[in-house]
Amino acid sequence: MEREKGYTGIEYFRIVAALFIIAIHTSPLSSVSSTGDYILTRVAARWAVPFFFMTSGYFLISRYGRDTAKLIHFVKRTMLVYGAAIFFYLPLNLYNGYFDMENPAPQLVRDIIFDGTMYHLWYLPASAMGAAAAWYLVRRLDYRKALAAAFLLYLIGLFGDSYYGLAERIPVVSGMYRFLFHLFDHTRNGLFFAPIFFVLGGFLADRGMRGGHSRRAGRENVLWGFCVSFALMLGEALFLRLYHVQRHDSMYLFLVPCVYCLFRFILYFRGRRPRYLKPLSLLVYLIHPMMIVVLRLVAKAVRLQGLLVENRILHYLAVCLLSVGTGMAAMILWERRRPSGAERPNGRDRAYIEIDLDNLEHNARALQKAMPPQCRLMAVVKAEAYGHGAFEIAVHLDRIGVKAFAVAVIDEGIRLRKYGIRGEILILGYTEPGRAAELKKYNLTQTILDSHYAAALEGQGIDVKAHIKIDTGMHRLGIPAAECDQVKKIFAMKYIHVCGLFTHLCCADRFTPEDTAFTREQIHRFYDLLEALQAEGIRLPKIHIQSSYGLLNYPDLRCDYVRAGIALYGVLSSPRDNTLLKLDLRPVLSLKSKVVLIRSVRKGETVGYGRAFTAQRDSRIAIVPVGYADGFPRNLSCGQGCVAVGEHRVPIIGRICMDQLALDVTDAGDAAVGDIVTLIGGQGDNVIPAPAVACASGSISNELLSRLGGRMGKSVFL
Ligand SMILES: *Cc1c(COP(=O)(O)O)cnc(C)c1O
Repeated sequence: MEREKGYTGIEYFRIVAALFIIAIHTSPLSSVSSTGDYILTRVAARWAVPFFFMTSGYFLISRYGRDTAKLIHFVKRTMLVYGAAIFFYLPLNLYNGYFDMENPAPQLVRDIIFDGTMYHLWYLPASAMGAAAAWYLVRRLDYRKALAAAFLLYLIGLFGDSYYGLAERIPVVSGMYRFLFHLFDHTRNGLFFAPIFFVLGGFLADRGMRGGHSRRAGRENVLWGFCVSFALMLGEALFLRLYHVQRHDSMYLFLVPCVYCLFRFILYFRGRRPRYLKPLSLLVYLIHPMMIVVLRLVAKAVRLQGLLVENRILHYLAVCLLSVGTGMAAMILWERRRPSGAERPNGRDRAYIEIDLDNLEHNARALQKAMPPQCRLMAVVKAEAYGHGAFEIAVHLDRIGVKAFAVAVIDEGIRLRKYGIRGEILILGYTEPGRAAELKKYNLTQTILDSHYAAALEGQGIDVKAHIKIDTGMHRLGIPAAECDQVKKIFAMKYIHVCGLFTHLCCADRFTPEDTAFTREQIHRFYDLLEALQAEGIRLPKIHIQSSYGLLNYPDLRCDYVRAGIALYGVLSSPRDNTLLKLDLRPVLSLKSKVVLIRSVRKGETVGYGRAFTAQRDSRIAIVPVGYADGFPRNLSCGQGCVAVGEHRVPIIGRICMDQLALDVTDAGDAAVGDIVTLIGGQGDNVIPAPAVACASGSISNELLSRLGGRMGKSVFL
């Protein structure tokens, strides 16, 4: 069952945008009405290029965009396409006499960096530059400031474009623009024009379309927004034209809200993703000027200039047809070049983890709702977010507003910072005191394990933020709750800045009278210490006690954070666990693979290492390419575990190997090569709950999940 949630609207609008751009370059209405042509090509079609910028921004600057490699990939690919396009147009440049000027080098450099060596190619360097600029702004500043900065750039561009007539009148300003126009011909470039649309795209991806309950109303609102801002832009353009203010006509004040509303409207159309439209639209964009030339030559040769060139509307349609047709032919040839049927791997080719971010978000909100009003969720994302992938999980939680994270080790914390996580990051475990400089550099908060550790960290002479851990009975980490003086001393230290105080419960998951009494005692010891500290005049920092079971079984504790791990991922540790709060938590992770081979074995034959399975009847055996090296427990061998294939539930037989396992599918009549095998999780009726799998392997969900992932593909649902 695949959920197709592609951005259908965006894909189709890529082609629409490309056709509008052809209109800009062919002026289809020019023989009918010059005002009409102005409105079509200088105003109405101006959304097209910003739409492409915004689309790139939407997929680049958003949550996955925090991954710097993706920006580098985008810039490289854009420059590669640019290089190819420059080469493609070289004959035309030669024919136009581009290289005949006296000293072409400076002009060439300007064109390559800003203006494009062919009139429409400016889009490619602008795209790379705009992406990088927006990226930098968003990473450095929050969205509000990044938007303000990008808009400021846009304004500068605006006064060098369609408002130049005003800028020209102010001496200092006109001097500045004259200088700028030595560097490039137009301000509608990667520096002034593109960044705002990239940032807006990222902004929409991060904040935009969640909480779809009022979809309908939202869609109507943005459509209205588009109509109003388009009308305003039209008025603006006609006014500027009337008073001859424009030096160029790419940038308008109302273009920004216009494109923003249009893009939001387009985002509502979701469904299948026609993949070929993206490369096709790019091809159409790149080759259409060449097609204009080709059409002229052909028209001349067959003496149809009147029809194909002078009739502007027919000319436009012919250029569109020729460009789309040539683009499609090029794509078909390109596809042929690749060995047929070769699907590029998409992370799902062998064994893979599926992450449902909607469920993650649902759980985060459910947990937050269950807490007292002042209390906040601290998302525990240690051990690759319990095997789910720290990047996907942390970045999504950051995006929906979670402001505190906990990890186990410093390197996990540093990685979160590199992904752009800005909130508090608490390291729950030991960090070598010699790494204090890194704690400071990445603004990480260190747990104080005991007073010796505090002294060692203080001894580094580097300012470090810390939460003090209090041992209330677990006897693992922490300063004993009775040692108020030791705690006080740490508050007085010069380099350690205490901003939190916490303890950990060791049997909050069980309800026997002894366990509840012990937990109550732990809680009392902790609050007693807090009171003692307050009595000593210490202002309490952030306080936290509960992890998942702490919240589910002792929901009303007064504190500032709940450190939730396993519940955030939507499962309990063991299948039989009972909790006081019964929250609707939904599993985030599924583990899947597929049948790669089916064989028949006769009654009495054996399968696998140690001949541990002997067929009791003639059997069909399916081989699945996932094993204990992927984190799937070996002690689920020999019928201890079962998996879902279609609507069937089938046993694992023989010994699980490092890289594969075998299933008995004799009773799953229609099972075939290529069938998806669900080992953990899944949707619909045939779900394999993680706690049950963990229990069958003699462990808890926490261990099972956190061991997954080493070499598996990952597939993320929204
Ligand atoms: C791992 C951990 C948690 C999270 O525990 P869950 O039971 O997964 O919610 C909370 N606090 C500390 C100190 C931890 O080590």
